[in-house]
Formats: sequence, structure tokens, C-alpha cells
Amino acid sequence: KEPVCECNTCYGGPDCSQFLPDCAADANGGDPLFLEPFWMQHAASSALLVAGWHRMSYKYSDNSFISEELEKHIRKVHSTVGNACTDKRYIVFGAGSTQLLNAAVHALSPDNSSSPARVVASIPFYPVYELQTDIFRSVNFNFQGDTSLWKNNSDTGTEIIEFVTSPNNPDGQLNKAVLHGPNVKTIHDHAYYWPHFTAIPAPADGDVMIFTLSKLTGHAGSRFGWAIIKDETIYQRMSTYLTLNTMGVSRDSQLRTLKLLKVVLAGKGREIFGFGHETMKKRWEKLNKVISMSKRFSLQEIVPKYCTYFQKIRGVSPAYGWLKCEKEEDKHCSAVLQAAANITGRQGSLFYAEDRYVRLSLIKSKDDFDLLLHKLHEVVAGEEGPK
Ligand code: PMP
Repeated sequence: KEPVCECNTCYGGPDCSQFLPDCAADANGGDPLFLEPFWMQHAASSALLVAGWHRMSYKYSDNSFISEELEKHIRKVHSTVGNACTDKRYIVFGAGSTQLLNAAVHALSPDNSSSPARVVASIPFYPVYELQTDIFRSVNFNFQGDTSLWKNNSDTGTEIIEFVTSPNNPDGQLNKAVLHGPNVKTIHDHAYYWPHFTAIPAPADGDVMIFTLSKLTGHAGSRFGWAIIKDETIYQRMSTYLTLNTMGVSRDSQLRTLKLLKVVLAGKGREIFGFGHETMKKRWEKLNKVISMSKRFSLQEIVPKYCTYFQKIRGVSPAYGWLKCEKEEDKHCSAVLQAAANITGRQGSLFYAEDRYVRLSLIKSKDDFDLLLHKLHEVVAGEEGPK
């Protein structure tokens, strides 16, 4: 018999069958492994074998860094899902959408201006917007915090760049731009604008829209993202950034992405989005059921909407639970969960919100989610008195 080298988290013993009740439930990261079973069912059609001599060049035969075939397939995915307008727009590729966030900030900032662009986002927001803007500190832009601070101040002449995340990480809301005006530019981060996580009420139509393979197929490790851009000058500026930064995206990664998108597109995406939505919806229902029995915790509310992709009002299925500790004394909700049940979430202050909130990842593997649910059950069952 082969020796067992490594057991799944929370299982031990010689044959990994012993449940370890004290082990930690890790609901922290955003690794989208909920899609792993889908790819196991499509192992052959999604497999890729690349000969050693293939795609060795810096560039494709048309002298670009971008696979034309892949670009065509990305446009097709959007028209099939109906989640973004791509007609008469430019597309650039990035090493994950992470690389494109700063490429967009750079492209939308003024050059050599005495007043750098103010980069803002609405609390609670994805922390990378601030961390990245700060680490690439430039004379052309700097991070200026919460959008609301600039609501009545957007006519000062200084450029403002607003990150709008829709659906939002951490709370899953379909956010809209808060700031408008001649000096306001918007970067629409649509990492989660796929039927797994949200209804698709209409195709997104922003001037600069950013998407990622990570949350579409779950292949976060392939580091592939793309931006859809209306304006040619902005497109040129983003392209220059990507050329100087990494000379485009790994050709291997583009090849794999193409293979995966072909599987996504089979049957107009019904299989992957059917699986993705069903999985995420069931997880949300289970989480909601537990939390609805609690006096101590509550979850964000998301209004069900008509989905043009599924052609019906569909069950809510966000990527994250944005859990709130309701008791006055529970000011540090992540510490409460850690102490009561060994659950690791991401504390609210990382999203510039109160620590009364904690983000719980729902997109990880089934084992991770089941363990989280099990531990939450125990905490809620241990609460005193009826709700
Ligand atoms: N934007 C948002 C809102 C995200 O949550 C993430 C990943 N968690 C990203 C961008 C970056 O994703 P990636 O670099 O894998 O494309």
C-alpha cells in the first residue's frame, strides 16, 4: 500500500480518515477553487500539451504581444454572457488583472502635471487599489482614500480616478460610479461580473473595464486578465505600460487561457455558469441559514435581480460573506470568530471598514467551505437564548 504523504486540512491518522475538530477553518483567501470539480469533469477537453519548440518568440507573427485568436474568444465570451460591450473597443492583456489596475491608473493620470491625479475608491474596497497606488508612488498620481470625501469636490480641476468594483469585493454589491464630471475618470473592476457571482442586469459599458480569468474559470495561478478600453489614447498608454513592464503576458498563459475559454464557450457557457452559480447559490443559502439563527452575527443583504444571461431572477450567490458582529462589545469580529471557533476571516479594517466586519471567502474548495459552515454552526448553536 502506498504511504499517505499529506492529508486534507483537518484530517489526520494513518489513512487520513480522522477528523481533527480543533483545526482552523481558513476563510481568508480569494482562491477560486470552487470551480475545481468542474475542471475535473472537463479534464481532457481542457488539457494542454505544448511542444518544446512552440511559441518561443517574444512576439506573435503580427508583431504584437497579444494572441489575436484569444482576443477574438474573449469578445465572444462577453457577447455570449452579455456582461460587457466589446464592439469598437480595444483590448489589452495583463498578468492577472492586478497588473492592469496600475496600468489603468498610469494611463488615466496626467503627464508631468503639477497636480497629481487623486485615486479614490468607496469603502469597503479591495485593498490592492491603495497598496498598489502607494507602492508605485508617482508624481502623476496618489491615493486619496474614500470616494465620499471628494463627492462635492470633483470640480476643482484636479483629475480624480475612481475605482468602481462591481460586484464589490468584499460585500458583493453592484456598485456604480459615485463621482461624475469632466475631470473624473473611472476604472470599472469587473473581476466578479460573471453569472457565478451575480445577476447580469445589462452589459457593462464603462470606458475602462477590467476582467480576470481568476474569477471566470478559477485559474488564478495562470495570471491572466484583460482590459476593455474605449479611448484609443488610453489604450496606447496602457499598452506602453504593459510593454515596458513585462513585454505583455506569458505566451504560455495565453495559450492555456484560450484552451479554457473554448471549454467555457461550449454550449454557450451553460455548463460552467450553471455549475458556478448553483455551487455559489447553495453555499450562500447554507451560510444564510446558519447566520439567520444568530443574534450575534448578521450578513450583508443582496437584492435578487433579473439576470439577462439566465433570463430569470436568480438566487443570490456572492463570492464573499461580509459578516457583521452585532454586539456592542464585539468590536473585532475577526478576533471573535478566531477565539470562538478557530475561523480565520479577513478583518474589516483591511477594507478600510470597521473591524466589526469580517470577510469570509465562499469561493474556496468544498472542504474549506464545509468546515467553515460546521464551525459557524457550532458557534451559533452555542449562543444563549432564542433570537
Ligand atoms: N480585483 C478584485 C476586486 C479582486 O478581488 C481581485 C482578486 N482577488 C483582483 C482584482 C485581482 O485578481 P487577479 O490579479 O488574479 O486577476
